Amino acid sequence: MSKRVYNFSAGPSMLPPPVLEQAAREMMNFNETGMSILEISHRSKAFDAVILAAEENLRTLMHIPEHYKVLFLQGGATLQFSMVPANLLTGTRKADYILTGVWAKKAAEEAKKYGDIRIAATSEDANFSYIPKTRPADFRADADYVHITLNNTIFGTRYAEIPDTGNIPLVADFSSGILSEEIDVSKFALIYAGAQKNVAPAGLTIVIVREDFLGKAPSETPIYFNYKTHADNGSMYNTPPTWCIYIAGEVFKYLLAHGGVAGAEENNKAKAGLLYDFIDASAFYYAPAKPDSRSLMNVVFRIGDEQLEKKFVAEAKENELIDLNGHRLAGGMRASIYNAMPMEGIEALITFMKKYEEENQ
Ligand SMILES: *Cc1c(COP(=O)(O)O)cnc(C)c1O
Repeated sequence: MSKRVYNFSAGPSMLPPPVLEQAAREMMNFNETGMSILEISHRSKAFDAVILAAEENLRTLMHIPEHYKVLFLQGGATLQFSMVPANLLTGTRKADYILTGVWAKKAAEEAKKYGDIRIAATSEDANFSYIPKTRPADFRADADYVHITLNNTIFGTRYAEIPDTGNIPLVADFSSGILSEEIDVSKFALIYAGAQKNVAPAGLTIVIVREDFLGKAPSETPIYFNYKTHADNGSMYNTPPTWCIYIAGEVFKYLLAHGGVAGAEENNKAKAGLLYDFIDASAFYYAPAKPDSRSLMNVVFRIGDEQLEKKFVAEAKENELIDLNGHRLAGGMRASIYNAMPMEGIEALITFMKKYEEENQ
């Protein structure tokens, strides 16, 4: 296949074609080194420039304050489900979690190994179709932190507003939303994100942590688990995922040259808006997520009839609209429309949806 398809995968997912082309051009000879970026030592000057620029550009894009560290780690968001409590659940050893989906549940389950975890709010009663409203009084005043999942990849919901936790530090999994919309980093103690949704290939996890949350892990904590290890060594205590950091850096440059996060947010709102408007106006499709909780990145939609839904996904694939199947637990369809999905991809999907509706209603 010479032509590129529209890939609606939840992750790994689409990357900007100019970044892929740039990486291909540089593959045999990176920056006049006579080597591929894949072959270069992480201790080399050439790679040092890559990781420093990546960090600086991410700081610019997200307006990350000086007193936060940016860490480039491995292990996925899943390792953060353990690393967060290993480092932060070390005061009263109490933390409150809000359950808004499968990933939030997994994070809470893992944290239970480290201390006293309470579920402060959940939307499980309605199959995670909304973001529960909370007030500061809903959280234990002496909790070490409150954990939320800012964008829920599987059920297609998102926090439109960051919950107010009063003085309790807020920790967020932002795997499927990072760089999709502007957020105020200073409201968080820690933000983590697996990069394979909206940033880079699989293998890189970004952690943004306020400096005063470093150094809280007990001394028996495995060295890789301790945020301080990575903060003290510029994410190079051990070999970092060099290739992923290089691609992430190119994605950051690309975003900076194309309107930054504010520009991405505007595009994402237009893209998601077009798709939700079409679904809401249709008598054939429906979106289970409550309108005030809908994700900009993962649009979950259904027909209701499982046979028609399976056929939809198969026929969409024949039309070069790839990976539209919903997660097993949410059912139906899901269009993951990260930053790299162009408006043309949304338009092609809607054109297909109209045709499918006409042929199958
Ligand atoms: C994909 C995803 C995860 C799991 O990420 P891994 O990098 O595979 O560990 C966790 N949380 C959210 C919100 C996700 O979208």
